[in-house]
Amino acid sequence: MKITFLGTGTGIPQDGRVQSGVLLDTGKNLLLFDCGCGVLGRIHESGYEHKDIDAIIITHLHLDHVGDILALIKANWLLGKTDMRIYGPQGTKEWFEKTLDVYDYLRDRFTVEITELSPEEEFIPQGTEGNCNCNIRSAKTAHTDNSLAYRIESSHKTVVYTGDTEPCQEVMELAEDADVLIHECSFPLGFPMTNHTTPDLLTLMMDEYPLTAKKLYLTHLYPQMQGRYREATDHIRKYYKGEVIIAKDLMVVEIQDD
Ligand SMILES: [Zn+2]
Ligand SMILES: [Zn+2]
Repeated sequence: MKITFLGTGTGIPQDGRVQSGVLLDTGKNLLLFDCGCGVLGRIHESGYEHKDIDAIIITHLHLDHVGDILALIKANWLLGKTDMRIYGPQGTKEWFEKTLDVYDYLRDRFTVEITELSPEEEFIPQGTEGNCNCNIRSAKTAHTDNSLAYRIESSHKTVVYTGDTEPCQEVMELAEDADVLIHECSFPLGFPMTNHTTPDLLTLMMDEYPLTAKKLYLTHLYPQMQGRYREATDHIRKYYKGEVIIAKDLMVVEIQDD
């Protein structure tokens, strides 16, 4: 599997980081996890084609995770691709319908199949040509009422993506023995915060639920994290033996076969 970090930032603009988006290339399929503002442009910069994306999988409906979805579907339509599949939490259908109400001229231009998910669901996403070659499991996160994290398995490799969350048991269990855990880390050490992650909140959770994923990538970095990256990774390394890496936009991570 190949991971491309498209957007590692948040709702506040900063140099080099657009809003949330992670592209997963299974070798056969392209799955886009979250699609905040700036992600459509990053797909182009990454060398992938937006119209080759099989499905969009959303962690939650905050604008910094969904802002470019309609723009992507429209860009596909402009190039003649009119089908898309979206997987997301409860409320995704209503969100999409209401968004289309504002852009009524787009309504009949494409066919979007939406599947709403609950925590602890397992599914095989549908792609442009039938089943994708991966299995996905969802878990509840500590962010909004319906927010989800995902565990993606393909060719015996596993990636877990948290979306936004405060560290929680459900995510630690979802990440069991994963090759890569992509965990949000919105704010720096000691920052007073709930519903998001700081390095110390994460290591507090690791004390109770040891992290067994092989590599940890930190994303969803607020501007307050600038200048505090080294402090974050140094802190986490005291509690975690695997690699800890601060993600960057357009960073590519290949998970090699054993
Ligand atoms: Zn959020
Ligand atoms: Zn967010």
